Amino acid sequence: METAKKPSRVQYRCKKCQKIDRKGRLAGHFFKYHVSFDQVPFSCSLCSFRCQTQQHLLDHVTKYAPHVKEAKLRGVTDLRRYLYKSDNPFSVSV
Ligand SMILES: [Zn+2]
Ligand SMILES: [Zn+2]
Repeated sequence: METAKKPSRVQYRCKKCQKIDRKGRLAGHFFKYHVSFDQVPFSCSLCSFRCQTQQHLLDHVTKYAPHVKEAKLRGVTDLRRYLYKSDNPFSVSV
């Protein structure tokens, strides 16, 4: 694999449909289009966000503006309420 000066700009390719994107986004894409919902390792039931790590999900519920806004609108104070952890997670490497 080639090394880039700015890791955040490194592009990854989806093994299933050849879509190219940044790693974090591509993982989300993969879980959305190629993995059944009950196999997504972590997801947010409020906005259907899906990801592979708990830390990523925690970042989502605390930093993703549309989620934070929606949670406020609903009066949700417990941000972890919408976190979902799969019992049967699918592991993806992109
Ligand atoms: Zn794909
Ligand atoms: Zn969310």
